[in-house]
Amino acid sequence: MNVKRIGVLTSGGDAPGMNAAIRGVVRTALYYGYEAFGIHDGYKGLVENNIVPMKRNDVGQIINRGGTILGSARMESFKQLAVREKAIENLKNLGIDALVVLGGDGTYRGAQELTKMGINCIGIPCTIDNDIASTDYTIGFFTALDTAIWAIDKLRDTSFSHQRCTVVEVMGRYCGDLSIYSGIACGAEIVITKETGYDRDSVIEQVKKAKAKGKRDCIVVVAEHILDVFALAKDIDDNCGYETRATILGHIQRGGTPSSYDRILASKMGSYAVELLRQGLGGQAVCANGIEIFHLPIEEALTQNKPTTDLYQFLEKLN
Ligand code: ADP
Repeated sequence: MNVKRIGVLTSGGDAPGMNAAIRGVVRTALYYGYEAFGIHDGYKGLVENNIVPMKRNDVGQIINRGGTILGSARMESFKQLAVREKAIENLKNLGIDALVVLGGDGTYRGAQELTKMGINCIGIPCTIDNDIASTDYTIGFFTALDTAIWAIDKLRDTSFSHQRCTVVEVMGRYCGDLSIYSGIACGAEIVITKETGYDRDSVIEQVKKAKAKGKRDCIVVVAEHILDVFALAKDIDDNCGYETRATILGHIQRGGTPSSYDRILASKMGSYAVELLRQGLGGQAVCANGIEIFHLPIEEALTQNKPTTDLYQFLEKLN
């Protein structure tokens, strides 16, 4: 199939670097003489025909901007065939033959369905959680990590001054990477994630040990949705000899200027996605293997299990 018009959309949770990827897609498409189209608010914009042509300058001055200029949205009803048929009709009316979708596993599933319905789609992994099994790193992860480190460093300053323990909640619902990477980078004493599990007695024991070692402060990093950080802070305060406070970093981790790595990864992946469409491919997920970029059928990308990082084994030794 000869591609002439390529659409790009951002879907699911936003991630710093999405704009750099949009730019990579649009600029590479134009380089090959294709027309580029931006779809607003993810699959919702596809169904509601919120689709605009994109020229070179439309993606100027965005490589350094967080969020997504196209907007993102979740649309549960996109799982219904009739709703996707409306999207296909809108694409056909505009002569758009192929799509690049930026998002996570959910977004990939939508892309796979559209590919089956005759529109070649390429998925680019964008999420701060780094929870996509088929790629070593997702666009947005390292920027969010820098933000978490920036915040935890500040919490450590004041914890040290006042001889406190700080329990800090970091994002990453299904994957503890943001927590363990930031914990390592900030010198945290304890990291609690889906991967480690939560054993209350063992955590209390470890905090007591930190106190016994003479540590003025103690940092406990907890991934979201594992436990109530305020309740854990009270428990530590009551039982470990540290005055203890809890902080939830929250959505601050989702925004901000993308890091160098994310800009480069996003630029490479955006461009690579267009190369795949140029080869007539669809239903592919763009992946990063270290700094190497490769691709897999989305079908295969969705069935892989994500290996746990080996950083956990160093945590104790570094304390
Ligand atoms: P992420 O892409 O970050 O994992 P979601 O899981 O919320 O985020 O998925 C983003 C969007 O992808 C959903 O709101 C929906 O529109 C679409 N989507 C998710 N799963 C499917 C599916 N099985 N079929 C079609 N579309 C889907």
